[in-house]
Formats: sequence, structure tokens, C-alpha cells
Amino acid sequence: MEIREMLYEGKAKRLYSTDDPEVLYLEYKNSLTAFNAKKKAEMEGKGELNNLISSWIFKYLSKKGIESHFIEKINDNCQTVKPVTIVPLEVVLRNVTAGSICKRLGLEQGMKLSRPLIEFYYKEDELDDPLVLEDHALLFGWATEEDLKTMKEITLKVNDALIELFDSIDIDLVDFKLEFGKDSDGKIILADEVSPDTCRYWEKGTGKSLDKDRFRKDMGDVLGAYREIWRRLSERGE
Ligand code: AMP
Repeated sequence: MEIREMLYEGKAKRLYSTDDPEVLYLEYKNSLTAFNAKKKAEMEGKGELNNLISSWIFKYLSKKGIESHFIEKINDNCQTVKPVTIVPLEVVLRNVTAGSICKRLGLEQGMKLSRPLIEFYYKEDELDDPLVLEDHALLFGWATEEDLKTMKEITLKVNDALIELFDSIDIDLVDFKLEFGKDSDGKIILADEVSPDTCRYWEKGTGKSLDKDRFRKDMGDVLGAYREIWRRLSERGE
């Protein structure tokens, strides 16, 4: 496979075309950002850990019948993925209150919700990815009714699969963010990544954060937490 031009550079990844139009090359960077890149750092080894964790989780989800853009892990920092047109919505699922919902609604952190809550955010850095209603997405053409229904169904399936997975390694899945894209047949599949950058993981019993909150809140040992997630996943076996 020949890597050609860079198509896009985001906060945590770079995307390249290859000599095969059905294959893109996705490089995980060592950058960590929070609060829409108002806080930034470089951490050697972070790209490699997220590539390992995200590849592992996409493979696990595929075994559970959940399709994603992931093709295969190529080397420490890179994986190949299918080309998709990204839906400009971030889908957040919450099992427990934490983060922006607590700030926005004045809620206490750590309240278990009686059922999963799904929220949509408009993917637009200049606006700080605002929370939007489904009607906004429909009226402004970001997604169709069918797209929203499909994304919600897949998000709930991902939640069931990830709760089962993280329960088995003594971690509570608090919340996570997904992104979706449409493949060449117009089918909605999971895209982006599923990693400690995009999920909240609390260790059962201690409540210790094992995710990007350690960076957001200056809790220290960010990479140690990512390594711990990888250790538990790899020891669990597929
Ligand atoms: P928040 O809305 O900040 O409480 O985030 C809810 C969940 O979605 C957390 O697991 C975050 O890590 C994740 N999340 C929200 N926005 C983003 C983003 N722009 N990039 C990566 N993860 C995000």
C-alpha cells in the first residue's frame, strides 16, 4: 500500500489517501487536547495507546455485529479505515452524570441514570460543538430522520457491548462520544475512534478516572491510566 496525500488533520489524528480508493490511512497523534483545544499537550506514546485500544474495541464491536470504518492496525500509530462521509454530529451516550451535563444543568456528578441518555452535538469547532436538538439536525440538513434513528440504535448497541466489556475488566462505562459516517453505499457505520480520549471510564470500587478527564482536570498520570485500560483489555483476551 502506498500512502499518498494528507486529506485532513484533526486534533488527535491525521488522515491520508492511499493508492487504493477504498482504503484510507489513519495516523494517531501524540497530541492531547481538551476544551476544544484551549488546553493542549504532547504525550509520547499516547497515539500508540489510542491506536491499540481503538483497534481492539472496533474489532470487538465487529464481533458483536457492529460495523465501523476500521479495517486493520498497520503499525504502532496507524490503522487503515474505509472512506466515509462524516455526519456532522457527535453522538454522546450517558449512563452516569459527569462532565458537561453537570455544568449545563447544575447536576451532581456520579448520578446513575435510570436509562441511557443520548445527546447530539453539532460538529463545529468554531461554535465549540454546541448541543443541538434532533429537529436542528433535520431542518439544517445535517442528518435525515432515518439517519438519526440508525445512529441512536447503533449507539445503544455499542453501549450494551461496551458495558459488558468494561464490566468484565472492573470498569464502569460512564459515557462516550461516537461519530458516524456514510460508506460508498450510503450505509451509516461507526467512524472516528473509541478510546480513553472519547469515553469516561471509572474503576469499579475506587471511582478512579482512567480516561482523558485526568488531563482535563490535571489529575496527573494520564498515560498511566491509558496504559491500565490497555493492560486490562489485552489481558482479558478477545
Ligand atoms: P461531555 O459532554 O464533555 O461531558 O462529554 C461526554 C463524553 O463524550 C465524554 O466521554 C467525552 O470524553 C466525550 N466527548 C465529548 N465531546 C468530545 C469531543 N469533542 N472529542 C472527544 N470526546 C468527546
